[in-house]
Amino acid sequence: MPQHKQSLKTDVLVAGGGCAGLAAALAAARKGCDVILVERAPFAGGIVTAVGLPYLDGLVDPDSGAIVTRGIPVEILSRMGGCAPDAQRATDISPRLREEHSPAAVLIPSTEQFKRVADAMLTECGPRLRILYTGTVCDATVREGRIARVSVAAKTGLYPIEARSYIDATGDADLAWLAECAVEKSTPLMPMTLHFRIGNVHPHPSMKAQMQTVCEQAARSGELKAFYGPHFECHYAPDEIDVHAIRINGDASDAFDLSRAEIEGRRDSWLMFERWKKDVPGFEDAYFVTSGPFIGVRETRRLQGRYRLHEDDILGHTVFDDAVATGTWYMDVHPNSATPGDFQDYKPYWPGPYQIPYRSLLPIEVNNLLVAGRCHSATRQAAASSRVTATAMSMGQAAGHAAALAQSRRQDVGDLHGETVGNALAENGAGIYIPERRPAGTR
Ligand SMILES: Cc1cc2nc3c(=O)[nH]c(=O)nc-3n(C[C@H](O)[C@H](O)[C@H](O)COP(=O)(O)OP(=O)(O)OC[C@H]3O[C@@H](n4cnc5c(N)ncnc54)[C@H](O)[C@@H]3O)c2cc1C
Repeated sequence: MPQHKQSLKTDVLVAGGGCAGLAAALAAARKGCDVILVERAPFAGGIVTAVGLPYLDGLVDPDSGAIVTRGIPVEILSRMGGCAPDAQRATDISPRLREEHSPAAVLIPSTEQFKRVADAMLTECGPRLRILYTGTVCDATVREGRIARVSVAAKTGLYPIEARSYIDATGDADLAWLAECAVEKSTPLMPMTLHFRIGNVHPHPSMKAQMQTVCEQAARSGELKAFYGPHFECHYAPDEIDVHAIRINGDASDAFDLSRAEIEGRRDSWLMFERWKKDVPGFEDAYFVTSGPFIGVRETRRLQGRYRLHEDDILGHTVFDDAVATGTWYMDVHPNSATPGDFQDYKPYWPGPYQIPYRSLLPIEVNNLLVAGRCHSATRQAAASSRVTATAMSMGQAAGHAAALAQSRRQDVGDLHGETVGNALAENGAGIYIPERRPAGTR
């Protein structure tokens, strides 16, 4: 029988190896589960490696300076030489990775190195963690309220895979949607952004303003539909700029619309590059280094799960008895129109550390599925905060631990109490951030 016709069996299947999925696969395998990680790119890391985004946000609370996402996010940063393994505070992070303009933003030293660190961490788990890069989860069979198996499209055909627990870390809630769980999509969806790098640039103090003027002219003439900033940083060399400026509206959970967005993102990045080269001093000898490789997707489907994290929970710091992760980033909603000079058209408000409950990872309809990362169950405003990288990793780590607990107890993840998951995370140096002094009356 051809290999791909045989059903593969495992304890835990993780769909998507981005921020949440990488952490989920590591957490479950380290607790002794057999895991298959399916990632459609040829590497893990998601937004960091597939889009080239060099930020680990949600790690540091800007007010207290405390690191609020313990466990795998800190471990990854430490494996990249960014901090000690037991880092507790922003001051424990290498100063070269701290941004002067934003005390909460932490830089990832190199998105290429991230690929290698992710490979190393995953392969260190040994044969119990099977990695299937370039595979896409594309179908699910549900029986009696449980996923019975999923189909994975890979080079060798369609693989049926059966697991006790499934973790949807696709960012787009692909698996929850395929399993016919309730999901929602807001109107409008936040725009997508293609990141790109330009080399042999000679930055000078007025360059950013001149780049912005060029973009504004292109927007006025209708050549650019939208853009932001433009912002750039010299992450890799003093003469190489990493640009975030592209704003493409669309629905990335629609394969054809996503393809259109990829094409428009490349068109807009080349338009900017060629105009800057022509009109902005410092770009005379510049060349286009690289883009993407994938366009960055901020928002598509979100689970409508057993609890929907609400912006009032974030602003009011609701205490959940099933809290499993901590967020702290502001509600980072990108507008769909041009915002010259800035990311948003509003002033960010920093909420301080808030809790994310286990129930926001659980669908109502299916009992052996968890949904972690930017597609967990949250309102649009709340997800605009909980979607950031380090927070997504914490949710992934919680999901991986829950799947391991379910395996050892021969239960479904949907039957576990989140408090048990929270306690297991705490015993492993992860889970929610507990400030040194808490107000009276909270548990
Ligand atoms: C342009 C942009 C800029 C951002 N800027 C910041 C920032 O500065 N700081 C910050 O912290 N956050 C930022 N974010 C938000 C943050 O990066 C994401 O929300 C975060 O990556 C969410 O993690 P995730 O694991 O849910 O998704 P991802 O990291 O996107 O991972 C999802 C993974 O699933 C894979 N996948 C998808 N579908 C399938 C499938 N069917 N089968 C198999 N694999 C699949 C994808 O290839 C991907 O690797 C930004 C997002 C974007 C788009």
